[in-house]
Parts: sequence; structure tokens; C-alpha cells
Amino acid sequence: MKIIMLGAPGAGKGTQAKMIADKYAVPHVSTGDIFRANIKEGTELGKEAKKYMDQGLLVPDELTVKILLDRVAKEDCANGYVLDGFPRTIPQAEVLDKALTELGDKIDFAINVDVPDENIVKRMGGRRACLACGATYHIEHIPPKTEGICDRCGQELILRDDDKAETVMNRLQVYHDQTQPLIDFYNAKGVLKEVDGTVDMKEVFNAIVDILG
Ligand code: ADP
Ligand code: ADP
Ligand code: ZN
Repeated sequence: MKIIMLGAPGAGKGTQAKMIADKYAVPHVSTGDIFRANIKEGTELGKEAKKYMDQGLLVPDELTVKILLDRVAKEDCANGYVLDGFPRTIPQAEVLDKALTELGDKIDFAINVDVPDENIVKRMGGRRACLACGATYHIEHIPPKTEGICDRCGQELILRDDDKAETVMNRLQVYHDQTQPLIDFYNAKGVLKEVDGTVDMKEVFNAIVDILG
């Protein structure tokens, strides 16, 4: 099963993608997590990606596409995957589509997690992330058991640099300009599904499970 998560930054794509990955036993592939891991390790890719990420801009397609195609070519992706944060532009979607077509394959579902902009701005300031294992929390809605510490791996939680209010506004603008057109792209392919992302995370997940079966 090959699934794409669509939605604004902070809509809950990552939160839902992790639950999907657990239930359906497919890897969770997040380009944002891959970039953050590279920044943490100080790689050339990380240095390049950081320039864009800190401004709330997208990392150029050439870089992003290569990373994603390498990742999904790995053994563990053979039976499917859930993509979180990719594609984010029409050219990225076209490259993925072409690569899959060449393998006689396709995306099964593109799930749009719908959350209005007003809710997003409130959510992002409360997001806390674990850079060690990729887990995400919210100080009010989804708190860790111990404040500031990751439940899964015990590392310290951080407020991402790009989750500060000014950068969130840029990211929302970039989302509307470059990523939202993907909703029509996948609708035209007949694989688009919509869920209300404003309700409790468990309710969002139930709606997704109804779709995936
Ligand atoms: P969010 O969880 O808010 O949706 P991500 O962790 O997916 O954010 O992405 C963080 C940042 O990494 C983005 O703002 C962008 O700079 C970069 N990035 C992630 N995925 C992509 C992509 N597919 N194309 C371009 N840039 C990306
Ligand atoms: P995305 O990957 O789309 O950027 P995340 O999954 O990281 O979004 O979620 C953004 C923030 O909102 C996180 O702090 C997360 O814990 C929180 N969150 C996720 N789903 C919900 C929900 N259904 N209700 C309230 N908060 C949520
Ligand atoms: Zn962790």
C-alpha cells in the first residue's frame, strides 16, 4: 500500500503517518525528518537544506527528489510506504508518478488532512519535536509523559526553529502557492481522500482507517 499524506504544515500529517505506519506495517518516510537528521549530523545535504528550511522555503526539487527516490528504492519500501511531506510541488509529484509508472506501480491513496490556517498557527507554537527519533508532541493536546522528554527514546524535546510564528506564516504561504495544487493533481488521478484534521487525533485516525480498510 502506497500512501501520500497531504495537508498544511502542522495539519497532523506526521502524527497520522506514524500511526498508519504502525498499523499497516509500512515505513514512514518523511523528507523533513531526513533533512533534520542530515542537519544534526552536519552533512553537506543538511547544510544546503537548512538555508531554505530556516526561512520557511522549500528545499529545491532537484535535491529533494533524489533523496526521496533513493529512500523508496530501499528494500523496506518494497511492500509500500507512507510519504509524509513529499511531494510538495507539482514537479515532485510528476517525478514520483513517472518513477512509479516505470515500475508498473502507482499511489493508492493521497489523504488530505484538512485544517484551516487559523488552527495551524495556534498548533505550531505548541509542537515539540524529538530530533533523535522523529516523535512529535503538543504541549496541550498531546503532551509527553514527562515535560520536555521524549516518551519513545528519552531524548530532549525542542521547539523547531521553523515553528516560530514568523516562519510559520511563510510556510503557510508557500503551502498555498506550491503544495495545495497537489489536491487537484491527485483528485484527477482518482486517489484523493479528505479527512477533517481539526478533531482529536484518534478520531482523525479512525477516519483514515475507514478509508484504507
Ligand atoms: P511540517 O511537519 O511542518 O509539514 P516538514 O518536517 O515536513 O514540515 O518539513 C520541514 C521543512 O523541510 C519544510 O518547510 C521544507 O523547508 C523542507 N522540506 C520537507 N519536505 C520537502 C519537500 N518535499 N520539498 C521541499 N522541501 C521540503
Ligand atoms: P505535520 O506533520 O502535518 O506538520 P504534526 O503531525 O507534526 O503535523 O502535528 C503538528 C502539531 O499538532 C504537533 O504538535 C502535534 O502533536 C499536534 N497535533 C497533531 N494532530 C493533532 C490533532 N488531531 N489535534 C490537535 N493537535 C494535533
Ligand atoms: Zn524520541
